[in-house]
Amino acid sequence: MKVLILGNGQLGQMLGQASIQLGDECLLINTRTNQVMPVGSHQALDWSVEQAMAWADVVSWEHEQISDAHVALAQSKLLTRPEQIKPLTHRQHEKSLFDRLDLGTAPWQAFANKEELADILAHWQGRAVIKAAEGGYDGKGQWRWQPGDDIQPLLATAGQQPGIVEAMIPFHCEVSIVGARTKNGDTHCYPLVENIHRDGILSHTLAGITKLPSHLQAVAESWFTRLTTDLGYVGTLAIEFFVVGEGEQASLLINEVAPRVHNSGHWSLTGSNCSQFSLHMRAITGAPIPPLSTQPTLMLNVIGVPEIPAFFWQHGQAAPFWYGKEARPGRKVGHINIALDGQSSGDEWVQSHAEQLQKLV
Ligand code: ATP
Ligand code: MG
Ligand code: MG
Repeated sequence: MKVLILGNGQLGQMLGQASIQLGDECLLINTRTNQVMPVGSHQALDWSVEQAMAWADVVSWEHEQISDAHVALAQSKLLTRPEQIKPLTHRQHEKSLFDRLDLGTAPWQAFANKEELADILAHWQGRAVIKAAEGGYDGKGQWRWQPGDDIQPLLATAGQQPGIVEAMIPFHCEVSIVGARTKNGDTHCYPLVENIHRDGILSHTLAGITKLPSHLQAVAESWFTRLTTDLGYVGTLAIEFFVVGEGEQASLLINEVAPRVHNSGHWSLTGSNCSQFSLHMRAITGAPIPPLSTQPTLMLNVIGVPEIPAFFWQHGQAAPFWYGKEARPGRKVGHINIALDGQSSGDEWVQSHAEQLQKLV
């Protein structure tokens, strides 16, 4: 099939590579310049977006900021209606969706301006995270607050745009589920993986390692199905959760949803028989999907450095992925998947090695 992806960043490139493996053809649109790009090249084709849309059998995206102009051109070639995922790009609408579908989430309240923010905080109990309604990623557009803190600096920053106030959750750990829903409405999910954030940015993911209470997988999958079915979603999607409590008492709260392939699924490029990118392509083209295997894998994000150290390129168990992007502080420029053997994959061993390896990046 001929697949057109809106967006040509690293996620678009990895989707493109998966499509090649499946024998499909794939082109990418640079959604800022409207250039039509082959996979793995900076050289644009001499094609208009209209031509690319006419060429494609199916159109999909690497990021959820889809313009109305692209939607109008793609029409029925988009298998998920973009207006259905629109609430997920606005924190108030996203939280309302979770409430409507009865999916547990941190207590929250929306504000439209700084007066409303001040009002909410005047009555707020406990610590809070304030998040801008739109545009935040990698912890940007977020502020922390606790009773007793001066609210003036907050009103001058967080209060300058609509947002939400959310209870700070004392979580046990953070996990995510990545999976796909097909055109037939079947869902296929990987096991929950553990995500460790530093300064609001995903630092590393542990797949097939963390021992989580077994009931959480069933809860996560049922919420995945409820959400993707309600959205009429086709393709790969990720849900980030906080795990609250331990053992049989443990429960999940949804933090946010990414209606696309996701950083916390990058381990699957080497740690599964079917990567999240291949899963997305199969879901949108109707190709068969196998039972999804998981080999214990540590995914380390490479953030803000000009290159991946030679140590990793030469390491027998490491698979580095370099995105070819200019390094800037806090910018994700690559990731490294490290295959772990059974014996060394106890939680503590991996956690301490992940910390050490992260310092080498
Ligand atoms: P992403 O890059 O994943 O899209 P984002 O900028 O959209 O991130 P969130 O995922 O909402 O932001 O928050 C980033 C991180 O901040 C979370 O993974 C978590 O570690 C912390 N965090 C966010 N909200 C809360 C909360 N209510 N309680 C505790 N920690 C939180
Ligand atoms: Mg986010
Ligand atoms: Mg997040």
